[in-house]
Amino acid sequence: MNTSIGDHAVVLGASMAGLLTAGVLARSYGRVTVFDRDAMPEISVHRRGVPQDRHLHFLHPRGRQALDELFPGLTAWLIGQGAPTGDVLGNIRWQLSGHQFRQANIRLPGLLASRPFLEGHVRARVSDLPNVTLVERTDVVAVTATPDRCRVSGVRVHGTAGGGERAVPADLVIDATGRGSRAPLWLSELGYEPAAVDRVDIGLGYATRIYRLRPGALGTDMAMLTAGTPQNPRGGAIAAIEGGRHILTLFGILGDHPPTDPPGFDAFAASLVFSDITDAIRDAEPLTDPVSIRFPASVRHRYERLRRFPIGLLILGDAVCSFNPIYGQGMTAAAIQAGALQRLLARGEMPQPRRYFRTIARTINTPWDIAVGADLAFPQVPGTRTAKIRMVNRYLPKLHAAATADVTLGRAFVRVLGMVDRPEGLLRPDRMLRVLWTHRPGAPAPT
Ligand SMILES: Cc1cc2nc3c(=O)[nH]c(=O)nc-3n(C[C@H](O)[C@H](O)[C@H](O)COP(=O)(O)OP(=O)(O)OC[C@H]3O[C@@H](n4cnc5c(N)ncnc54)[C@H](O)[C@@H]3O)c2cc1C
Repeated sequence: MNTSIGDHAVVLGASMAGLLTAGVLARSYGRVTVFDRDAMPEISVHRRGVPQDRHLHFLHPRGRQALDELFPGLTAWLIGQGAPTGDVLGNIRWQLSGHQFRQANIRLPGLLASRPFLEGHVRARVSDLPNVTLVERTDVVAVTATPDRCRVSGVRVHGTAGGGERAVPADLVIDATGRGSRAPLWLSELGYEPAAVDRVDIGLGYATRIYRLRPGALGTDMAMLTAGTPQNPRGGAIAAIEGGRHILTLFGILGDHPPTDPPGFDAFAASLVFSDITDAIRDAEPLTDPVSIRFPASVRHRYERLRRFPIGLLILGDAVCSFNPIYGQGMTAAAIQAGALQRLLARGEMPQPRRYFRTIARTINTPWDIAVGADLAFPQVPGTRTAKIRMVNRYLPKLHAAATADVTLGRAFVRVLGMVDRPEGLLRPDRMLRVLWTHRPGAPAPT
């Protein structure tokens, strides 16, 4: 155990971001205490504090790498416990902009599992760390500060199963309480300026149901994604999860939400651009009723732009930035941020807030631009469309069409979406030429 930086660090929230953060802090602090208002269930059991955990959670290849960097051997363990895995182009059917990508093995493994399974296993790994204590049923109500308010000195917590309110001193407090983070309020109570907030209203609605499919219903595919188009913004994704089951999530934007009554759910699935999802669930055994969740907007707090910020408080995960979940970036972004924190701590001192927030902002820029740029392809979504966004949104459907025949382009695209490569790579001259070649006058229509 390494206690080089401080005696006690506190993490608020024991979901993916908080757990990964605790794993990182355990290497640099004598003790790490993680508070969550929920009771922590068995592995694979849903919990109230994470209502999104009933919906499909895709872990991008970059997220898989990042998890293994933080917890060596984690994904091999998950696969050993039954998490399906396969190639992200060879075993996933991508249907984007009304075109189905040509499938081929590109040796980029993806991992699928239900969200409670994934989080539960990460929780088990973190709970095994000798200097980490997970305190459940405890609401964090405030941060405490030194009299000059320049430094956060701990938190005030309230045990929801009794025990009343108490102060917990800490050298470092990291807020990972998700979209509902009270950090903006706490900062204002301490006399700090509010951070600017970027917001893209998407009015997204999800509905999800779990099935046991008939044998061979998806062929050799482990998942399939049908994205909406500007003409038909409805989409859906079905994926294998542990236990031989499949999870189907349907989504619609700007209030056009999938219903949760089974006939309405099926009718929504049948209204997608492709019929593959409807074909896959034909004769399937539903194991749950459809459940819904709403996601009004992608929100990004620009803490990196603040000139003053108290020492001893950092924020991570959805509490800083929560992306439109259609693009499946949140857990990967949290894991990358935790990795960035680890590299800052490796310098042997508590990260200064300014340096920390600037560092994680750089990791957030790309997934944020991808999600926002893609949302703005829908003309109904309000927001400023820069010349670059307009150009990219005219180009991508052409690339998707070309990827129906050209594996090089499909590979390049899924590597970018999987957060392995930078998006600029899609605009490389050789790739643009391949797209143009497919769309040259007289070219055969993509199949
Ligand atoms: C519908 C939906 C689908 C998604 N799909 C994907 C996907 O496919 N792939 C992907 O990578 N990501 C996906 N995400 C995002 C992903 O769920 C999050 O990015 C990820 O969970 C990291 O979030 P977090 O840990 O920062 O916050 P959260 O997961 O929101 O967790 C916050 C935690 O803090 C606790 N808490 C809150 N307030 C307090 C308090 N005051 N005191 C104590 N505890 C508190 C809560 O109980 C909870 O445990 C999806 C999100 C949604 C909404």
